[in-house]
Amino acid sequence: MTDTPTQLFIGGAWADAADGATMPVDDPATGEIIAHVADAGAKDAQRAEEAAVQAQEEWARTAPRVRSEILRRAYEIVVERTDELAHLMTAEMGKPLAEARGEVAYAAEFFRWFSEEAVRVEGGHGVLPDGRNRMLLSRRPVGPCLLITPWNFPLAMGTRKIGPAIAAGCTMILKPAPQTPLSSLALAAILKEAGLPDGVLNVVTTSRAGEVCEPLLRGGRIRKLSFTGSTNVGRLLLAQSAEAVVRTSMELGGNAPFIVFEDADLDKAVDGAMVAKMRNMGEACTAANRFFVHSSVAEEFGRRLAERMGALVVGPGTRDGVDVGPLIDRVGRAKVEDLVADAVERGARVLVGGRTPEGPGCFYPPTVLTDVDPGSRLMDTEIFGPVAAILTFDDEDEVIRRANDTPWGLVGYVFTEGLDRALRVSERLEVGMVGLNTGLVSNPAAPFGGVKQSGLGREGGRVGLDEFLEYQYLAVPVR
Ligand code: NAP
Repeated sequence: MTDTPTQLFIGGAWADAADGATMPVDDPATGEIIAHVADAGAKDAQRAEEAAVQAQEEWARTAPRVRSEILRRAYEIVVERTDELAHLMTAEMGKPLAEARGEVAYAAEFFRWFSEEAVRVEGGHGVLPDGRNRMLLSRRPVGPCLLITPWNFPLAMGTRKIGPAIAAGCTMILKPAPQTPLSSLALAAILKEAGLPDGVLNVVTTSRAGEVCEPLLRGGRIRKLSFTGSTNVGRLLLAQSAEAVVRTSMELGGNAPFIVFEDADLDKAVDGAMVAKMRNMGEACTAANRFFVHSSVAEEFGRRLAERMGALVVGPGTRDGVDVGPLIDRVGRAKVEDLVADAVERGARVLVGGRTPEGPGCFYPPTVLTDVDPGSRLMDTEIFGPVAAILTFDDEDEVIRRANDTPWGLVGYVFTEGLDRALRVSERLEVGMVGLNTGLVSNPAAPFGGVKQSGLGREGGRVGLDEFLEYQYLAVPVR
């Protein structure tokens, strides 16, 4: 980790913040500071904007094959450095090494996927209905972009945006979360090594997000915002983007229902629950937040889930055999504690976990709550921790209504062995993605995103590239 850059990356060069400010990065497993990185202010943001704007025209003219090959090289370097990147993520974010290695593979795949898509951008040609004009349609990069990412998947949330922006021919400024800046800086070094021209990617690490981002969004030179984070911050950034009519993609929060019908295969349902709940310690927008289990199987499901959750090993992510690392920080853990306390006050039974351990680090045990009152706060709050809250239902229409009774609509999980029911329920869920008898939906080749207040647009898949492209229509008379 001694080689990991800690400065800002602007115009292809490493630099301190203009005012010399730095910010600490700590290890949530120990609370110890592991690095100090540059803490950008408004002046640095201006320099990054200038670099991105200056590089845009030439970058847009670069052959798609060249952009594709840079991404391909970056993919290969990321894969080669799996171990190094995984250790970096575990150190700054806490996830166990095995999960961090999984994230490196997932993150790298966005580069490979978009390296393949970069050379398949197609326009169109046709004669208009009146026969007097031809229509030539070309696809053009939207222009300099601002990419804002959260801390929970420090590498993959970056590559999911950088990959399509490079493929489309956009330049960009990446602002990672202050808890996890090191992974993004490591990524910038890899892209430079892969041959990305100066100014195409600029990284500003900062604890002053508003000061850095608001002028960029209001200034009129940034043409696109791609944001992943909470719905509240997304709403604020949408308002800021309105002034200069900045195009936006929003990957926001979720409140995923996990529905287990009476005809479900309970082995599959419990396996799915372990993934949907425990991936990334529950700190995922796709995390199952509300378990609706048919009353005839609820007790058995709860018992089996509690057994599996109780067997998980909690500890520092670097330690062998650990399944569950620390939560990101004390604020995140306090939120989980409050939500559990509220549910218990309203009558929930704790089947396993529920008690914060003594000692350093932001650990919280895998927890299963049953008999959860529907009025509990965790029903309409993203738990973002390893807590499964079980409620029961008796009727299909009723559970669909309750699952949809939330402002969010990112993902839902449905467990049933009946094909008709599986399709019928999936179609009626107000979500962008459904896991049918599976607890994992994320894949770089599939369009990821939500409806309602979970966001706008999609990332990944073929459509992930469209988010960074405009159409230009050329009218040419037929003579
Ligand atoms: P967050 O508080 O919304 O922060 C996300 C990013 O936005 C961070 O880089 C943050 O930096 C920045 N930010 C905050 N206020 C800002 C402002 N005024 N101007 C510019 N940037 C600002 O979310 P988080 O706690 O990091 O991440 C968890 C959330 O992300 C959850 O809601 C989760 O569901 C969501 N998420 C969604 C997806 C998806 O694909 N749908 C994927 C992963 C996570 P600061 O921390 O410095 O403010």
